[in-house]
Amino acid sequence: TGKFIVGGNWKCNGTAASVKDLVKALNAGKIDADVDVYVAPPFVFIPRVQAELNSEKYAIAAQNCWVSEGGAFTGEVSAEMLVDANIPWVILGHSERRALCGETSEFVGEKVKYALSKGLKVALCIGETLDQRESGKTMDVCYAQLKAVNDVITAADWDNVVIAYEPVWAIGTGKVATPDQAQDVHAGIRKWCASNISPEVASKIRIQYGGSVNASNCDELATKEDIDGFLVGGASLIGDAFVTICNSAK
Ligand code: 13P
Repeated sequence: TGKFIVGGNWKCNGTAASVKDLVKALNAGKIDADVDVYVAPPFVFIPRVQAELNSEKYAIAAQNCWVSEGGAFTGEVSAEMLVDANIPWVILGHSERRALCGETSEFVGEKVKYALSKGLKVALCIGETLDQRESGKTMDVCYAQLKAVNDVITAADWDNVVIAYEPVWAIGTGKVATPDQAQDVHAGIRKWCASNISPEVASKIRIQYGGSVNASNCDELATKEDIDGFLVGGASLIGDAFVTICNSAK
């Protein structure tokens, strides 16, 4: 698979002052692993982060974008705007947006399609809830979320997608998936990609794990064959913790 990739999803956190401190800590951090890194600040902070963050170490991502061309869509930010603002990455399909903002898998599929058509790279989040896991539906849920995207994009489009497997029960709970739990799902996702996209895409695509990743549990997770990186929430707000996670790259 491709190069290890770590994302920092700052979610709806921060102040001008805290962002300044975080950028300072990230710039001071020594990334010595062979790793791609992106950080996703809230929109209002992106210009400041772009101006101050070391772009050789860290790329910028948006946390969301609109499903189609901009226009009369109050409160939204379009994919064209991200491209125009030199933001290369966008996170789409995060479980918080699926659960709290009513984004269906079909809507996420349309968003991924549109963002890719404008030249953005996409971190596509998928994952099951605790109920779904306990009723044995984990893989069906992940496959359905992937299918809704695959139905509307081409095999070549997947070159610009990383998949972030984020079990909802592990997000922000401190209950990290065990390395074996994560590995099992990642392997299933890769198999699905081989059968439903192509063996080439399956072997290249990077699958990040997200959900309570921190500086202490990242190394063991990173040893797993099909874990190609992390998408980090809470710990991405702590500069030295995030740098440690970036350096867990195999
Ligand atoms: P936490 O790392 O805070 O669990 O969040 C994970 C996440 O949702 C990243 O997108």
